[in-house]
Amino acid sequence: MFFYYQVRTHHHKTENVPALPCPVCHTAGHLQMNLMQKYMWVLGTVAPSGKYAVAYCEHCSQYTPKVKWTDEMDAAFRRLKQDAITPGRLYRGLLVFPLLVAAVIGIALLFVKGSQHKQENNQALIKEAIAHPKPGDIFQITHTDGTKADYTYFKVARVQGDSVYVNPSKIHITDVKKMKEWDEVPTGADAFEPHQIGFSIAATQKMDMFTYATQPVQYGMVWSLYRDGTLYKKY
Ligand SMILES: [Zn+2]
Repeated sequence: MFFYYQVRTHHHKTENVPALPCPVCHTAGHLQMNLMQKYMWVLGTVAPSGKYAVAYCEHCSQYTPKVKWTDEMDAAFRRLKQDAITPGRLYRGLLVFPLLVAAVIGIALLFVKGSQHKQENNQALIKEAIAHPKPGDIFQITHTDGTKADYTYFKVARVQGDSVYVNPSKIHITDVKKMKEWDEVPTGADAFEPHQIGFSIAATQKMDMFTYATQPVQYGMVWSLYRDGTLYKKY
């Protein structure tokens, strides 16, 4: 027997928080918080989960993951959440075959838990890879110079003491609609610049970002690691 279920997202509202600077490009005036809620669809809508927010900056076109939020952003999220009520329709599926639905939810929740667990494992693996990079490791990077951002890669060339030297990729994706292509990690030498950029491993660990020694400072935020043919995603 086959049960069909989907995890869907309900969009509560979008609020502009112009007073708060974007944690990625440090520009104020362009940050939006979107209040969202996941729920499951099994023969109807069931099992709404906790509300969460997605922060998006219209200036650098970057989504800021929760781990990078400032205290002010956390406070704004709590405010948003306070007056958002889970719509009754998200529970409507419970009226349909309650036992069947309960069984399917149980199974589906195991899958959701499994994927959360995988994400945590990947975060630990990437942390370890930043501390001890291996030549050939490819990091998926969002690079920002404070005004514009792109999606690219760093390939580890060599490690020397506290320094990791990477070849930056020639590929720079700027269109968010092409994000799928970003996951097709290029491995060939022709996809990377011949020159190497050096970063301090200790500083990269501390910031959880590759920080360029330029003025103004540029950043490369790590999203995932490609190692031995597998892409380990952090988010
Ligand atoms: Zn920004």
